[in-house]
Amino acid sequence: MTPSGTRAPGDVWVPAAELDGGNDDCGSGLLLSLTGSLRRIDVGQVLLLHTREPSVLADLPAWARLAGHELLSVVDGSGAPAGRGAGPWRISILRGERPGSAAAAQAAEGLSFTAGAMAPVGTRLWLYSNFHCNLACDYCCAGSSPQADPRLLAPDVAAAAVDEFLAMGGRELLITGGEPFLHPELGAIVTDAAARVPVVILTNAMVFGRGARRATLEAMDRGRVALQVSLDSAGPRIHDRQRGAGSHARALDGIALARELGFRVRVAATLYEEDLSSAPHLHAVLENLGIPETDRIIRPVADEGFADGGVHISLDTVEPEPTLTTEGIWWHPVGVTNEHLRVSAEPLPLAPAFETIRDVLAVQAAGSDEGRSVFRCT
Ligand code: SF4
Repeated sequence: MTPSGTRAPGDVWVPAAELDGGNDDCGSGLLLSLTGSLRRIDVGQVLLLHTREPSVLADLPAWARLAGHELLSVVDGSGAPAGRGAGPWRISILRGERPGSAAAAQAAEGLSFTAGAMAPVGTRLWLYSNFHCNLACDYCCAGSSPQADPRLLAPDVAAAAVDEFLAMGGRELLITGGEPFLHPELGAIVTDAAARVPVVILTNAMVFGRGARRATLEAMDRGRVALQVSLDSAGPRIHDRQRGAGSHARALDGIALARELGFRVRVAATLYEEDLSSAPHLHAVLENLGIPETDRIIRPVADEGFADGGVHISLDTVEPEPTLTTEGIWWHPVGVTNEHLRVSAEPLPLAPAFETIRDVLAVQAAGSDEGRSVFRCT
């Protein structure tokens, strides 16, 4: 093992140690030296493995899964996309706990999705800027995809909503989609809003790297606009299964760019219950990236839109967070494909919809104040 070295282009993670595996394959000693190297770093730290043996790329994922570690990235030193070049390769491995060990059981104890406080109606407003997206995630609650009707929110409607929201005491604006950076007038919407209220934009961070969208991002006020980027897992295994091949690496690039540009970046993972055990790995790599725990959220899949299972969303089970789309106002941002959760058929004005929501809450409270939980998206 060599001490931590300088980072090469393409390596996102800061390794605690490095190992030169040379030409060894997994059957000829590499696994022994790898296991020894991983045991000399702490759980949650990253080992950078250098290898010139192509078969390692095929064999390592299964070994890592069995050993409780996470393969974070594979970078081809020739500059070719992973799996297509001739190497040598640099493989970042996050040390985990051996499944079934006492330490793993202890780590798994108390695993839960991020809890959150209820936002009183009128303090928080969600805007759906658009519904189309460069991705088509298999659990997308909005049913977004490249083929989705964009349903663009007009800047004047957004501005009028912010006017009314602030006049009623609003304090927090969140913009989501679809992928908001596909909206050609996102800059106008955000500039107007951010001058008056803090704004969080939910994004997959994959489309603002260059051109007009990069200019839109760079023009935003770092002190008033934060980005919340979707990253479902430490390595690509779960994220790419849910969001598409290669999307994990592109999300990491987007996170790095946004942070380089000076934005506060929050990270949100969406997980099915059965994948919750991967959350400690994600926390570890976000720690590695320097993203504080207060800027991380692990949320469940909502059983809406494209999702096949997940948390049931209804007026009785989820605290309201009023959400405006071109087609009206909804109970919660994860319920905008569910007609049962539409509060108003028009996006404006807000006030009658807020009053309707308060009336529903009052009636529910009169009956019972139990059975509903906060569903945190941010
Ligand atoms: S979950 Fe987000 S990134 Fe994925 S398709 Fe839906 S809007 Fe796009």
